[in-house]
Amino acid sequence: MDNKKFIPPDWAFEFHGHRCPFMPIGYRMGKLALEYLGIEREKDHGFFVFPELGEGHPQTCMMDGIQIATGATYGKVLIAKTFYGKLAATFYHQKKGAVRYSLRPEFVDAMGNFEFFAYRKKGIEPSEIPAAVVDEIINWVYQQTNELMFKVEPKPDFQYTPPKGSFNRTKCSLCGEYVFERYVRMKDGKPVCIPCSGYEKK
Ligand SMILES: [Zn+2]
Ligand SMILES: [Zn+2]
Repeated sequence: MDNKKFIPPDWAFEFHGHRCPFMPIGYRMGKLALEYLGIEREKDHGFFVFPELGEGHPQTCMMDGIQIATGATYGKVLIAKTFYGKLAATFYHQKKGAVRYSLRPEFVDAMGNFEFFAYRKKGIEPSEIPAAVVDEIINWVYQQTNELMFKVEPKPDFQYTPPKGSFNRTKCSLCGEYVFERYVRMKDGKPVCIPCSGYEKK
């Protein structure tokens, strides 16, 4: 098997900030999802990713790898977490449909035996872990087969309609700053931004 294409480019590690196994796992998941759906890395706004990760667990680094591989970035509003706290993501293309990739528990368990996690459990950040310990687990990940790492499920019924784009903006009658249409609120009959409105964000 040719695993070389699943090794993230140097700029990916530079963007991510440290070397760890989860960014490369997300990168591979993203590459495989593009392949499965028969699409290229997203240039514009037709492809979406819904990672099921939450916060406060180390595997969230996967999401940087997913963005790097697929071009579905937070800046383009093409990626949104479900906060299920699971090691999975659904990839959806408006014309090609959807597929869900999840990490197999056996793979996650096997990873857990590496010294890398002994450091992480002591609260040591990836950039502070000896390079040999980090490389050991990253190289092991590179050697695993896709079948061993991922469960793949087609999602023929998956639907998603992105919010309609709008360039319409208004000046808040209180602070004078621009606010885009769907976020404008009314106060005493005048348009205001959410912070000036006193309403909760919703
Ligand atoms: Zn990381
Ligand atoms: Zn305002």
